[in-house]
Amino acid sequence: MNFRIKENAPIAWIAARFLGYKTMAIVIGKTIYLHGASVKTFQSDSKWMKHELKHIEQFKRYGFIRFIFFYLSESIRHGYINNRFEIECREAENQD
Ligand SMILES: [Zn+2]
Repeated sequence: MNFRIKENAPIAWIAARFLGYKTMAIVIGKTIYLHGASVKTFQSDSKWMKHELKHIEQFKRYGFIRFIFFYLSESIRHGYINNRFEIECREAENQD
């Protein structure tokens, strides 16, 4: 899968503050933005990697704009934890 990882990303810092997490990854298109973790730390955590790679797959599946729209509407209706896209990514963490 074609993707990029960026450390110390302001957008991930904003998301971390908003959600109350110390470490954060946020995917936009094919880029994984990190806050509070190095690329090395992120890549050594296979569950975390699988989670974020699933988000990249979701972007590809629905298309960039459509996925952002679907993701935000899920978050507004169901919250972050019960967002169906997050549920799918959490399930992917335990798959090979
Ligand atoms: Zn997620």
